[in-house]
Amino acid sequence: MKICCATHNAGKIREFSGALAEHGATLIAQDAFGVTPAVEDGLTFVENALIKARHAAAASGLPALADDSGLEVDALGGRPGLHSARFAGVHANDAQNRAALLAALAGVPEALRGARFYCVLVYIRHAHDSRPLIADGLWEGRILTAERGTGGFGYDPLFYVPTHDCSAAELDFEQKRALSHRGQALRAMSRLLGTPS
Ligand code: IMP
Repeated sequence: MKICCATHNAGKIREFSGALAEHGATLIAQDAFGVTPAVEDGLTFVENALIKARHAAAASGLPALADDSGLEVDALGGRPGLHSARFAGVHANDAQNRAALLAALAGVPEALRGARFYCVLVYIRHAHDSRPLIADGLWEGRILTAERGTGGFGYDPLFYVPTHDCSAAELDFEQKRALSHRGQALRAMSRLLGTPS
């Protein structure tokens, strides 16, 4: 079975492919169909993932898988949340977003620096599927006062993982996959795909 994957991120496609291989699924990046990015104007992660999945399914004529994810910080009332990729501005890169997060949390004590990553995955059989499969995952931690580690991406160097006493950027790929919001959502989606629909 071929599935169109609504992301441009090669790392994500590799991670998704590995998790869904047992279902005989081959993931094809939406770029292969010349799909332009969808307008992510939903008010929730799941709405945005659905928008991206529908857009990819309509353009490719294939079932589609899309994800949406972000970081919620307690001391910021849940921000950056949906806007995690552009916390420091529309064209901000990861380093600028991390710098903006550190600045926003300046002076906030450790006990109040709780945060979590959230990921939702949506799978639709076709562009008009009214019963999408939806799976999600949460990863609890807190925001460090300085960056640690060089692995991962995004906010990983600032995300402290209490269970392993390190930052997400200090975990290797397999450890992160076992713990992360995305890994949890992928395993949940894999279970849903294994359930007769
Ligand atoms: P997207 O769902 O790939 O658009 O992710 C939104 C933003 O959330 C990314 O740009 C990252 O800044 C952040 N993010 C999502 N997942 C992770 C993660 O596993 N580590 C670090 N940052 C993440």
